[in-house]
Parts: sequence; structure tokens; C-alpha cells
Amino acid sequence: MNDFIVGIDLGTTNSELAVTEDGIVRVVPIHGNPIMPSCVGIDAQGNLLVGQAAKNQLIAAPESTVVSIKRKMGEDTRVRFGEREFSPEEISSFILRELKNEGERVLGRPIHKAVVTVPAFFNERQRKATQMAGELAGLEVVRILNEPTAAALAYDAGNRDHETILVYDLGGGTFDVSVVTVESGIVEVRASHGDTHLGGDDFDQLLVDHAVAAFQRQNGRELKPDLRTLRRLRVAMEQAKRRLSDEPYVHVREEYLDGENHLDIEILRTDYEAMILPLLEKTLTCLHQALTDAKLAPKDIGRVMLVGGATRTPLVHQLLRQKLEIEPRFEINPDLIVAMGASVQGAALSGEKRHSILVDITPHSYSTVALATDEGGYEFLRCHPIISRNTPLPSSKAEMFFTTLDNQTEVKVAAYQGESENPDDNVLLGDFLVTGLRRVPSGNVVIIHFDLDLNGLLKITATEKATGLAKTVTLDTRGARTLDLEKAKQNIAQLVGMDDAIEGSSDGGLDETKERQEQLTAAKNLRKRAEALLQKGINPEDAEELRALLHATAEAIGRHDDLTELNNKLSDLVFYLED
Ligand code: ADP
Ligand code: MG
Repeated sequence: MNDFIVGIDLGTTNSELAVTEDGIVRVVPIHGNPIMPSCVGIDAQGNLLVGQAAKNQLIAAPESTVVSIKRKMGEDTRVRFGEREFSPEEISSFILRELKNEGERVLGRPIHKAVVTVPAFFNERQRKATQMAGELAGLEVVRILNEPTAAALAYDAGNRDHETILVYDLGGGTFDVSVVTVESGIVEVRASHGDTHLGGDDFDQLLVDHAVAAFQRQNGRELKPDLRTLRRLRVAMEQAKRRLSDEPYVHVREEYLDGENHLDIEILRTDYEAMILPLLEKTLTCLHQALTDAKLAPKDIGRVMLVGGATRTPLVHQLLRQKLEIEPRFEINPDLIVAMGASVQGAALSGEKRHSILVDITPHSYSTVALATDEGGYEFLRCHPIISRNTPLPSSKAEMFFTTLDNQTEVKVAAYQGESENPDDNVLLGDFLVTGLRRVPSGNVVIIHFDLDLNGLLKITATEKATGLAKTVTLDTRGARTLDLEKAKQNIAQLVGMDDAIEGSSDGGLDETKERQEQLTAAKNLRKRAEALLQKGINPEDAEELRALLHATAEAIGRHDDLTELNNKLSDLVFYLED
């Protein structure tokens, strides 16, 4: 087991350790958490603290805690902390050693070798410094790997012939965008651009400024935060920011912030987005620069991969979709993907075979429907995605909606599965009525919350924000009849789907005419005969034709179309095949 090589993402904000073995990629929990803050400190007794423990004392003991040491890698400088001074390599080595020790404890075997990642723009000095940090930690750094390359490897780029990938990496303190090309399985960074002082920390700072201003307005006095109060605010705002990735607003309360008064504010996601938009626009400028440097246009990009915790911000996805007209990929956890890719490289270097990373994602988007107004002022119903396609599961997301009428005491909440804005093109999973809303002018806020679990159960909660009045229903998304052509080719699923369709539509009973009932019965009998034929085995071309007809019938039933013609065709074919 000498050749066991782990992968390490030594990040500015957070660090992670992953291993790939027998084709399985695994992120090793460090102190119980896959993400370890890149934070080093010394406690009151002079003990070394690394990771979350160090981050925890950041507020209480900022003087004896170091963060973001990666920014100083390669510099000839010393960082004071506690009673002593250390080089950036030494501080980084504490982080690497913690990963190594915890990794060994969890895996129950020694770790000697690692692939460690660095930003593509790191120069030779910075790379050397990283290698040195590894050595100081008792690790042989067998390869220094570029972070965007690692991300591409995690997405299986090494198994492709030819592809151009854009890696958009927005971390805590830095932003990088890289154009990565794959030629015959060789993954290479073609161009890289970025801003070494742009990331999630800046978003936190904007929220801190916002909170300070709000506090002053509320209490009519100036808040002159000392270091401790500032750090406390920062922690609170970082949490608020994360919640805003999933929720439409957050409520933040910090008691006795200045020793006397409380901070008590609500932040809307839309307001937050307005604050960070100029920063995100800067990332897009970098993106265009990287494309220009690589002599490429957006249309040449095959895939866009999101890396870094801050890419969970919904506005990032939205802007990339608008700018590049490509659906960014975020199935693999953006905080862990670099470490995973590094471990894939490690496994390859130690002679392991290829593998792929398996993640549970939702293949469909889930939306609710609301009134929208077109340019001519006409109102129409439009689907608003709450959980987008390719989101890792389980997922919990919420959006805010408004009543459109004065004294509106009811809202109908509907859940759809599908990618279209037009509800008619999507599959209705179910709907329910929330009654008893307050009698107030239009614009009463209702929060719609979707929780999708690994088993495909979708829990929908509608809450009137002002009162907390809520109603929840749970729907099973697995039985949804998708009008997806790919599905049509899946023999068995299709037959089941048609059964559902028939059952579902005769359930409605009352409004079915006698003729309709007869059509449905005929369709059902024909399906049974077709099913028997498919089971018995017929030649592939006939089977394909039969399946296509069955699928068309299932769709027609779902749409309440007349079935005469399809039944006739099906009957002819079944008759012919039974012969
Ligand atoms: P780095 O590469 O700099 O070590 P990470 O990739 O771990 O950083 O990203 C850390 C940043 O991601 C932090 O600013 C953190 O607040 C932010 N972040 C983490 N989760 C979320 C989230 N759910 N929404 C928005 N930002 C997030
Ligand atoms: Mg990173």
C-alpha cells in the first residue's frame, strides 16, 4: 500500500482531503466535517489549533488566529501569531498535517503521498512553497495540480477525446476562471484569468456594511465596531449569506451588539443580489478576457463547471445562463470537487483504473406557477423553478411570491415537473389551496418552500410570511408521467406510464363520456395484448413501432385527446403481430 496517494485541496478559506480507491471517490471527514477551515490558531494555553477549532476562536482571539495564509504563499514574509512568528509555508504545513493526521485516523492507515492543488495562476515560487509546506507536514507532494484541471478530472474529462471546458471558481477570497481543453484524454489549462481579491468574503463585507447602516438607522446612534464586534458581525452575515442561496429572505438578530442595543434586520435576497451584482459583473469581465486569451467565443464552450462555495449563489447561475446560454454544471459539490479531482489524479498516478464520481441529482426542474405580465400588459401563468435540474439531492429551496388581489384570502399552490416556462408543457404533480390569509392589499408575501429528498418525495410548504400560517403537502414525484421522448424508449417504464395514464384519467370519472370510456377500455385491452407480445419477443423493428404507438397513446390519454385513430393503428399492428 505504499502507493496510496490522496488528493488535497489546500484552499484560501477551506481545505479538503479525498481518496479514490477501487473506483470510488471519497471525501474524508476532518473532525467530522468534509470541509475544514484553512484556519490556524493558538489557544490561551499555547496549544496549536487547526480548522474549525481555530475558526471558533477567531472572534475571541483574533490576534492568535491566522486565516487566508494561501495569499502569502511564496512571499518572503513572516506571520506573527501567538508569541512567535512563522513563514507562510509553516502555517500551511499545520493545515496539511491536520488533514494528514485526521485522514490517517479516519482511514486507519498511514498517508505518505499526496496530490495538492494550486490556482492555475500560481507561479513557480508559489508552487515550490506549496510543495515545501507538504514536506514540512511529512507528505511527499507527488504532483502539484492546477485547481481547474482537478475540477475537470472530477467530471471525468480524462475519459474524453475532445472538449473545451470553462471552469468558474468563486471561493472565499479569490475568483478564477479557466479555459480547460481536453485532447485525447489530456487535460490542459489554456487560459486563466481572475481577481485575487474577489470572493465570498467580499459578499460578507457588503452585508456587514449593510447591517451596520441598518443598526445605526434603527438605534439612532453610530456603531463603531471594535475588532471583536466586526468579526461577530462577519460570522452572522456569512451565515445569512449562505441561507440566502436557498431562501428568499433571512432574519438576523444579534443581541446587545454594541453592549446595549440589538441588531434586528431582515434581508431580502433581491436586495442582497443588488449589492453583489457589480462584483459578479467583474467576474464576467474576467470570463470574457479568459475566452479572448484562449481565442474562443462562448459558443465554443462545451461545458461550464462551477467550483467554489460561493457559486452556490443563485445569481451566479442566472448570470452565466444569460451570458453564455449554457446551463452550468454543479452536480458535484462545488466545495469538494477540487479535492475529489486531485484524488482521481492521485489514483491514476498510483496505477488505479478509471472511475467516475456518482452523485444523486434531480434530472428535472421543479417549479411552481404564478401570474406574470407580458409586454402588452396581459397576464399569463408562468412556471418559476424552485429546484433546478441537476441540483444535488437532498435539496431544500424557497422563493417568495405575492398575492395579486386586494383582500385575497386564498392562494392556489401548484407543483410542476419540467423545464418549460409554460405550465402546459410541464407535468403537473399536484396542487393545493391555502386559505385564511389576512385581508390586506395585494402584495401579501407567501413563501413557497420545496424540499426534495433522495427518494423523490417532494414536500411543499406555503407560508404566509406575516403570520406564519402554513400548509404542507407531500407529493411523490416518481409516479409523474413525463412526456420525455427518452423515456419512450424505455420499454417497461413506458408500459407502466400508460397504465397510470389510463387509471389517472378514468379516475376523473364524472366528466368522461361513454364514448371516452369505451376508447379507454379499448386502449387498455390493446395495451395488454401489446405487452404480451413484447414479453413473448418480436423482431426489434416491430417492437420499436409498437412501443412508439403505446407511447403516443399514453400521451394522448394524458392530453385527453381523441383515441380513435391511435386505437385503430394499434389494433392493426397487434392483430398483424399476433398472427
Ligand atoms: P476557497 O477555495 O477560497 O478555500 P471555498 O470554495 O471553500 O473557498 O468557498 C468558500 C466561500 O464559499 C465562502 O465565502 C463561503 O461563505 C462561501 N459559501 C459556502 N457555502 C455557500 C452558500 N451556500 N451560498 C453562498 N456562499 C457560500
Ligand atoms: Mg478553492
